[in-house]
Amino acid sequence: MAESKSPVCPLCNANTVVEYWSDCHGRGSDGKGSKGRDYYQCEQCQLVFVPPWQHLSAEEEKAQYDLHENSPEDDHYRQFLSRLAGPLTARLHCGAKGLDFGSGPGPTLSVMLEETGFTTDVYDVFYAADQTVLDRQYDFITATEVVEHLSQPGDELDRLWAMLKPGGWLGLMTKMVLNKEAFSQWHYKNDPTHISFFSRETFDYLFQSWDVTAEYPANDVILVRKGSQKES
Ligand SMILES: [Zn+2]
Repeated sequence: MAESKSPVCPLCNANTVVEYWSDCHGRGSDGKGSKGRDYYQCEQCQLVFVPPWQHLSAEEEKAQYDLHENSPEDDHYRQFLSRLAGPLTARLHCGAKGLDFGSGPGPTLSVMLEETGFTTDVYDVFYAADQTVLDRQYDFITATEVVEHLSQPGDELDRLWAMLKPGGWLGLMTKMVLNKEAFSQWHYKNDPTHISFFSRETFDYLFQSWDVTAEYPANDVILVRKGSQKES
């Protein structure tokens, strides 16, 4: 908290970063849970992020995830994931193999994709940390409700992109920043494990750096194909 220097953008590494919002604005003195965080925005890629010195420790972070009760038996959760699974599987060729990155404590999307006929590996830094799956190449990679948890989203997304075969699909889900007014009242920012907040502008910046064009088939759902720059 006592840091005075501005952090570097964890997506594009720019140091043109400005203060965006602080939880201390508009907060009453309720005392409880009022450990506010600060949010910076990168002027180059528009990412909004919490500075590294306000991140949870790995232990604190895992303790939060252990509270999640998502599972393949949860129809509501399946419905939520189907907003990505539907448009993604419609674009996959028969026999496509993929990876669900950040599969969490109760892997569900991978189960749904397997049920549809697509072999899907899982990786999760806390719950399925088999590094060998990261050495493979895939026809598709999914990361649902993951990018907002990444302290180094630029490096992580570049790594996933490099693991895709030519013509492969990357499917992401995350809630997006609209504007500062909405952000100030956004429940999504209050999850202490959420530290990187993307907007359409941020994704556009990222995908431009990859020289590809994205599709947005539903709210908060992003699909992008490796090698898509020549077709459209
Ligand atoms: Zn940036």
